[in-house]
Amino acid sequence: MIKKGDTVYIIKGKERGKTGRIVRVLKDSTRVVVEGANMYKKHARPKQQGQKGEIISVSRSIHASNVMRVCGKCGVRTRRGHSVANGTKIEVCKKCHAEL
Ligand SMILES: [Zn+2]
Repeated sequence: MIKKGDTVYIIKGKERGKTGRIVRVLKDSTRVVVEGANMYKKHARPKQQGQKGEIISVSRSIHASNVMRVCGKCGVRTRRGHSVANGTKIEVCKKCHAEL
């Protein structure tokens, strides 16, 4: 399961090749927001009358299948392996076997 704080590598779309941290996982876990990726400009309405509206950059979510988790230990883009520790199934990096 992908979670907030994971480092991922984007494998598809216009942001392909970028690495970033997950800042948000949407409710059903099929979409994630990656820090600094898939930015778009949004015009914000002025909060009060007489103020100017501003243009802010917002990260759009991307589909979770378009990212690959990067191992925090060895930095390798990895497919997850499974291991059993103390009777619990855990996800591990296939390369260095660190727990993900
Ligand atoms: Zn690793």
